[in-house]
Amino acid sequence: MCGLSVIPRPGTPVRFNHLPLGFLSLVILLDSKAQQTELEWISYPPNGWEEISGLDENYTPIRTYQVCQVMEPNQNNWLRTNWIEKGDAQRIFVELKFTLRDCNSLPGVVGTCKETFNLYYQETDSEVGRSLRENQYVKIDTIAADESFTQGDLGERKMKLNTEVRIIGPLSRRGFYLAFQDVGACIALVSVKVYYKKCWSIIENLATFPDTVTGSEFSSLVEVEGTCVSDAEEEADNSPKMHCSAEGEWLVPIGKCICKAGFHQKGDASPSQVSEVIKEKVQQRSIQLSWQEPQQPNGVITEYEIKYYEKDQKDRIYSTVRSKSTSATVNNLKPNTAYIFQIRAFTEAGYGTYGPRLEITTKEEATGSIYCCVTSNPVIIIAVVAVAGTIILVFMVFGFIIGRRYALAVKFPGTKTYIDPETYEDPNRAVHQFAKELDASCIKIERVIGAGEFGEVCSGRLKLPGKRDVSVAIKTLKVGYTEKQRRDFLCEASIMGQFDHPNVVHLEGVVTRGKPVMIVIEYMENGSLDGFLRKHDGQFTVIQLVGMLRGIAAGMRYLSDMGYVHRDLAARNILVNSNLVCKVSDFGLSRVIDDDPEAVYTTTGGKIPVRWTAPEAIQYRKFTSASDVWSYGIVMWEVMSYGERPYWDMSNQDVIKAIEEGYRLPAPMDCPPGLHQLMLDCWQKDRAERPKFDQIVGILDKMIRNPNTLKTPVGTCTRPISPLLDQSTPDFTAFRSVGEWLEAIKMERYRDNFTAAGYSSLESVARMSIEDVMSLGITLVGHQKKIMSSIQTMRAQMLHLHGTGVQV
Ligand code: AMP
Repeated sequence: MCGLSVIPRPGTPVRFNHLPLGFLSLVILLDSKAQQTELEWISYPPNGWEEISGLDENYTPIRTYQVCQVMEPNQNNWLRTNWIEKGDAQRIFVELKFTLRDCNSLPGVVGTCKETFNLYYQETDSEVGRSLRENQYVKIDTIAADESFTQGDLGERKMKLNTEVRIIGPLSRRGFYLAFQDVGACIALVSVKVYYKKCWSIIENLATFPDTVTGSEFSSLVEVEGTCVSDAEEEADNSPKMHCSAEGEWLVPIGKCICKAGFHQKGDASPSQVSEVIKEKVQQRSIQLSWQEPQQPNGVITEYEIKYYEKDQKDRIYSTVRSKSTSATVNNLKPNTAYIFQIRAFTEAGYGTYGPRLEITTKEEATGSIYCCVTSNPVIIIAVVAVAGTIILVFMVFGFIIGRRYALAVKFPGTKTYIDPETYEDPNRAVHQFAKELDASCIKIERVIGAGEFGEVCSGRLKLPGKRDVSVAIKTLKVGYTEKQRRDFLCEASIMGQFDHPNVVHLEGVVTRGKPVMIVIEYMENGSLDGFLRKHDGQFTVIQLVGMLRGIAAGMRYLSDMGYVHRDLAARNILVNSNLVCKVSDFGLSRVIDDDPEAVYTTTGGKIPVRWTAPEAIQYRKFTSASDVWSYGIVMWEVMSYGERPYWDMSNQDVIKAIEEGYRLPAPMDCPPGLHQLMLDCWQKDRAERPKFDQIVGILDKMIRNPNTLKTPVGTCTRPISPLLDQSTPDFTAFRSVGEWLEAIKMERYRDNFTAAGYSSLESVARMSIEDVMSLGITLVGHQKKIMSSIQTMRAQMLHLHGTGVQV
């Protein structure tokens, strides 16, 4: 039988489908809470971990293991689970629930009491008996409590249950043991759950995909071939494939099956487009529309959605109106303004595709008499036209001259125009036109920080006469270079030297009259953005991330206004300074992309970083600011996913194919929907439909001004919501003193520690690092964490309030 449910629903935005999972994607290997009989894990020595029956928070009997040897020094108590057969799992999750006693609440234990324990595993092909040899275990992590508990006023324990999850894998043996090492803490291990994730069998595009175990790495996608359902066959050269993500979700459907001749697809299909729309009445502030039912309703149409936006509005904010009939009046419009309308139908199967865009301009408001007289005066009209014509002519001639001289695309004066250094016959002239020649004696090279295509990249100091010395990065040209290498190396300086914008890396100058030949650039302490984000995974607020994106967009707006097309915009080509300011870097002519390790040869010739590049640039090398906007969308995705690789480990060919079929990267974890929508806009197939950098900056500015728009809807978050946006988070900037702040976070016991160390203002506290907190004598990990997380929130709030940078 051909025909089953059709996914995606028609009209949903083009993106990878996060397919609804009918059931959890987890396969449980061990759940200590579910066990009714004794667990009988191995404990050594005998006076260490003890199996104790207890009740959980719902008064259900559970088995726990407890240890509390806090008075004696040198504790080394081990507990080992029974053997856990891993089945076909590669990446195993271990979820621990436990309580941990706060050492401060136990008298006379200073020096012996600990607040952590260690988690280990041992891989084996079968059970290995009941002896416990420490050196056979591989450490997974040291586990600390987010919350330790104290003795309550009435003597009862105030239990704080902690949950920690750790991941192990890839595993190569048939099974494994978990082990817990206590070194002197007071712990109750309430539950241990071990599981792995699976993508459950699904039918998509008339193909069945079997249950699939997730890959061994966080970023790995498992490619799965689909089998056509009965009476369907593979489309020629387009066999169905899906990818199972590490989270147990099916992603990126490629290819499909189609019904065999004589069969048709059963079930609910797409209402087709609403294409015949008529403007019934156009007023100053309202427009009445009517339309025909779509040619193929494919079900009962219960509603229509009319989407509209101001044509020239930078932010492209859509409004929608719904109608149960085939007509609607859209009110509250602006007079004399062009609007774009699109309509789609809704049936039980979902929305159909939007029909074509319809542009309608509202009527002008009644005009005043003076304006009338001026504009209707033919003499003035002729004068105005003549002056405007002359100006345009002058600009055109001027542009033509420049264009001939430098062989450039003509841009009218008003914005500075980028000049392609290749158009200079003598590249030395180009470099000296745009870059300052520095005296090598002003430069002090300190250390090597990276490897560039042409030689080492070093950090150092630049001291120009009469100026204070500044930190710089120095790119050097390796010895034994050819003339062409020298020219290509200096080309970057000739390009960079033309730019002057706070979000574009600044060129200090070049050294061409000595050896080594050097390019001296402002120093960006945090290096490349991709590595920086990976290093600080999950540590920034959404506002901070959007602030970074805003900076990159502003830099790109400047470059595109100058007529410069970057062609290789990617997080690895953005540099970050100590104030989290992001700057666009890596300039070169098209062939410089050849140096990008991500660039691969495509069938159209030339090397292209496929994952970052717009389809028209891949297919027929149409590189424009609009293709840079596509890449910018990918950078947005990289930033919001903290440096994840776009399209994970899919092959370049599959990426090209998936994009061609209309699929787009899904929203990264915790990414506000508005930001993902902006990414999708950047990835419009039709490049004219993509927003301009100017519009992107406007949209991001608006989001930063209204942080509520950046809230992630409940249910989509797996990382904690940014503290800055959490309404329940106190406003730290409102506290008047360090004491008041410590009281609010229930850490007033450390008031004297802060005073003694000289932290008298909240500004000074906001600059503290974890080392500073520890140096105050705060030894409890839970308290250090609590104070540090509050400091980070305070910092983010100050950043938001004052717009100042944050030292990382
Ligand atoms: P590049 O040849 O521009 O790709 O530079 C190689 C590496 O040197 C980069 O990945 C950065 O880590 C580092 N680097 C380049 N320029 C700078 C800079 N201005 N400040 C700090 N690090 C830099």
